[in-house]
Amino acid sequence: MLSQPPASRAGDDAIRDAIRRVWGFSSLRPLQAEAIRAGIEGRDALVVLPTGGGKSLCYQVPPLITERTDVVISPLIALMKDQVDALRANGYPAVALHSGMSDGERVAAEKEIAAGRTRLVFVAPERVLSGRFLRLINPLGVRAFAIDEAHCISHWGHDFRPEYRWLARLRSTFPDASLHAYTATATPQVRQDIVDQLQLREPHVLVGSFDRPNLTYRVRAKLEARPQIIDALRRHAGQAAIVYCISRRETESLADALREAKFKAACYHAGLNPDQRRRTQEDFANERIDVVCATVAFGMGVDRSDVRCVIHAAMPKSIEHYQQEAGRAGRDGLEAECLLLFSPADALRWESLLARSLEEQEDGAPEWLDAQHKLLREMRGYANAVRCRHRMLVEHFGQRFDSESCGACDVCLGEVEELSDANTVAQKVLSCVARTRESFGIGHVVDVLRGARNDRVQALRHHELSTYGLLKHFEKKSLTDIVYQLVEQDLLTRDGDELPVLRLNPASWEVMRGERDVRLRKPVGGVAKRSKGDAASWEGVSEGLFEALRGLRRQIADEAGVPPYVIFSDATLRDMARQKPKSPGAFLNVYGVGETKRRKFGAAFIEAIKAFEDRGARIVPE
Ligand code: ADP
Ligand code: ZN
Repeated sequence: MLSQPPASRAGDDAIRDAIRRVWGFSSLRPLQAEAIRAGIEGRDALVVLPTGGGKSLCYQVPPLITERTDVVISPLIALMKDQVDALRANGYPAVALHSGMSDGERVAAEKEIAAGRTRLVFVAPERVLSGRFLRLINPLGVRAFAIDEAHCISHWGHDFRPEYRWLARLRSTFPDASLHAYTATATPQVRQDIVDQLQLREPHVLVGSFDRPNLTYRVRAKLEARPQIIDALRRHAGQAAIVYCISRRETESLADALREAKFKAACYHAGLNPDQRRRTQEDFANERIDVVCATVAFGMGVDRSDVRCVIHAAMPKSIEHYQQEAGRAGRDGLEAECLLLFSPADALRWESLLARSLEEQEDGAPEWLDAQHKLLREMRGYANAVRCRHRMLVEHFGQRFDSESCGACDVCLGEVEELSDANTVAQKVLSCVARTRESFGIGHVVDVLRGARNDRVQALRHHELSTYGLLKHFEKKSLTDIVYQLVEQDLLTRDGDELPVLRLNPASWEVMRGERDVRLRKPVGGVAKRSKGDAASWEGVSEGLFEALRGLRRQIADEAGVPPYVIFSDATLRDMARQKPKSPGAFLNVYGVGETKRRKFGAAFIEAIKAFEDRGARIVPE
């Protein structure tokens, strides 16, 4: 509909007037006008706006203008209370009914509702269809229901709540009322599920943009979480920050460590008593503390819009969770940073937590577990990809991302350094898994590759393997990170519950046969420092070429029946791999090459260098 009837334009004036008068807002945000109009006109709607997009206003305005009593269904008591408090502070007549109220409070609230002066009644999904509530609101002729966090109705979502399934009966119980579903995080599948479950009638579907251009996203492999977290927080010293952890214990020990590092920090989780929780929330809201180390229990009720940094000390279990939690940064529209510290061990932890929670569910559905695993895989994919983060997030929510580079993520900012020679390194790791007969875990494979001289390696005689010590120039942590990257990209399989072992899969063989290119992030921690002379000699050396030259040296040595070092020393090969000479004159400049050796071997090595470079040129995409 392009032109609006005059009545509707008059409605727009009323809306503008209300938001100025009650909330002090001067304009509406994208899609708010459309959502509010659907509310006023009693047309079903599905409104999808990112966290901070301003969904609440969309259901708060219509009853004020139409002088109705509308009902809001909300999943958490804390969420209801905060909203009701905020509304009442603006002189807006809102009431919540929940299990945390005393009898006296409930009776008073019910009286207020019955008098018809209340514009919004907040209620939990399990209560809205109870006899008592129906008796209370039937005389009021309620005409509109807003369902907040509507994705909770879907099995496919990240936050399924069984009690939301009851809302499927809203339509038949209130055939004349309109239903308005609100969510921040719906993929197309979840969106359809919401429409189906609630039996929305030709809903007005309003989907906002999911990009948050003011947020800078970064993903870092988690090697030493503490220093990494402290480092990031120092970039935002004195500003509001949230650090999300998986376990309650972690929030506590991290908050301790941060206080020791002179941050004003506190922890927050559902295991604290209500007083402690309230104190932390208030201290944060009032800027007495800067950093909250929290489980995901923290956030829903926090309305501090100037959070400058959200750190995930562990990977969340879905992109939806990530978007929602990271989305708490920069709600004021100013720039903020979202850092995800990621370790594949987090994914394994989630897998076991999911398995356990399936056991605890009464009607534990295997398809629920499958859906959760899919969400987890997507999250891991996000963490491991070397692709623009803004683009990945936006595309995940079914939207297009048009610009080439976002200028606000680690990938586009060029902070994600790729490992040169990823193919060679990957091949070495995979060969080592093959040589150790696919029967060992990451730790041992890393030990063998690094040439560790421990008892286990000796007892298994793994120091005699051809892959022993092949990657000794990597630090243990870096190499471990690389192996995990291969696992994450499904180029290597890690299975077994108690003591997982590394196994090869078809993709591993493709890599080993050189049929598949590998891209790896440079591991945090980098490459081990070598002794002085040695370190200098690796500067600028292409390791892949070095390997190729070593192969040629071995071949020549075999043919001549002499040890390889007689042909050229390693130092010479490295210098050759650095200088990449392509003419006899240039070959002479290589360290350790005299006239005789140039005459004898120059042509063969120059040819090998050219061949290597040609191979490299061919794999560069057009
Ligand atoms: P959501 O529920 O979508 O996460 P909220 O409804 O909590 O978002 O709104 C986020 C913040 O934006 C709140 O502080 C709210 O007061 C503010 N807000 C909402 N709409 C507007 C507007 N039109 N103008 C200014 N501020 C707004
Ligand atoms: Zn980007």
